[in-house]
Amino acid sequence: MAGFEMDVLVVGCGLCGAVIARHMAEPGKKVVIWERRDHIGGNMYDYTDEHGFLVQKYGPHTFHTKKKELYEYMCRYEEWRLYKLNCGAVWDGKYTPTPFNFTTVDTFYPPEQAEKLKKKLSTAFAGRPSATVVEVLEHPDPDIRGYAAFLFQNDYAPYTAKQWGVSPAEIDPSVLKRVPLRFSYEEGYFDDAYEVMPEHSFTRFFENLLEHPNIKVELRVEALERLTVREDRLYLDGAAISIPVVYTGALDELFGGVYGQLPYRSLRFEWKYQEKDCLQPAAVVAYPQEAGYTRITEYKKLPAQNRPGTSYAVEYPLPYEEGQAAEPYYPVLTAESQEQYAQYKTLADKIPNLIPCGRLADFKYYNMDQALERALQICDRL
Ligand SMILES: Cc1cc2nc3c(=O)[nH]c(=O)nc-3n(C[C@H](O)[C@H](O)[C@H](O)COP(=O)(O)OP(=O)(O)OC[C@H]3O[C@@H](n4cnc5c(N)ncnc54)[C@H](O)[C@@H]3O)c2cc1C
Repeated sequence: MAGFEMDVLVVGCGLCGAVIARHMAEPGKKVVIWERRDHIGGNMYDYTDEHGFLVQKYGPHTFHTKKKELYEYMCRYEEWRLYKLNCGAVWDGKYTPTPFNFTTVDTFYPPEQAEKLKKKLSTAFAGRPSATVVEVLEHPDPDIRGYAAFLFQNDYAPYTAKQWGVSPAEIDPSVLKRVPLRFSYEEGYFDDAYEVMPEHSFTRFFENLLEHPNIKVELRVEALERLTVREDRLYLDGAAISIPVVYTGALDELFGGVYGQLPYRSLRFEWKYQEKDCLQPAAVVAYPQEAGYTRITEYKKLPAQNRPGTSYAVEYPLPYEEGQAAEPYYPVLTAESQEQYAQYKTLADKIPNLIPCGRLADFKYYNMDQALERALQICDRL
């Protein structure tokens, strides 16, 4: 780092690390970011593949939020276009949009029964655009209950079981408290005021965000080869340091796993290309009955890219083992893992210049807007 002093060290060049780095750089602090991957952007990283399609290396991302100020922050560094994500599911060879709606009823029920069920749903949930699956499962009418049970058995249970690596019988319907069933033909995955995709790319957003003379990004640097913790102090290359260290990696890794490895689920993406112009009806489609994989993302629909052929990624969930090629994507949140995380957090809180932030360091499943909000809270504190 000859010629560039360091006032702040940031570990990780994902959304949280990059936002905080920019905030510190603006008033004149020299910020160094160490990123172990060979690219910026964390899990939001996208690139153009060999067939000319913009694809997302770590799975499908769309930016959506209810909060204007978060959307406006994103607009400082990239232009955005409105984009409504459409998702779907296929089983028994039939396609339905998700969240499930009246098209689902028409698809899986004979016409007469479908009409009767839609009427019953509209009356039972009058004035409400949707309800959770759990509510519908508990309804006194057996036809209404039966509809939710049919969806649970064919989609939610097998899908969730594959996602978390358990058997469908172990899936408790209560985990679906937030999944809506719509009582209309309305489609669209999210109901947020701002639902957008970058005009150029997520990576372009990061390039602009990091474009500042006081920020130096160093890729392929494993921070924990140089940053260590001893007796509530941080050491850099063996020397104690007191500059702020923003840490967006996993806390168990920072503390050498003294309380055991925090549990995560990971994903393996199988990248494919076909000459055909359309693979599936929506950008992201779940395949609950297929062995091994959960869903397929067809990138030419995320957002629309008009060129021949199609590039897509098939998503296989798997357990995360530290040190293997897999990435820690989804924290497995149980009472036990929360307790384990709390122990690591207690260690972190004893180090005054350590600032943990982000999906890994906070051991939370943040969407991008939540990660951004969390980073901006830290910026206010700093
Ligand atoms: C499959 C998938 C789909 C998603 N889809 C959406 C979506 O549609 N909409 C949405 O809002 N959100 C989505 N998200 C969530 C979104 O990816 C996160 O909110 C956001 O990327 C979090 O940013 P972060 O900075 O906290 O973490 P990250 O992006 O994980 O960045 C952390 C960075 O730190 C680096 N790092 C860690 N440890 C070290 C170390 N020791 N040394 C050096 N570098 C280190 C990592 O390599 C990584 O680049 C999705 C996530 C996944 C996994």
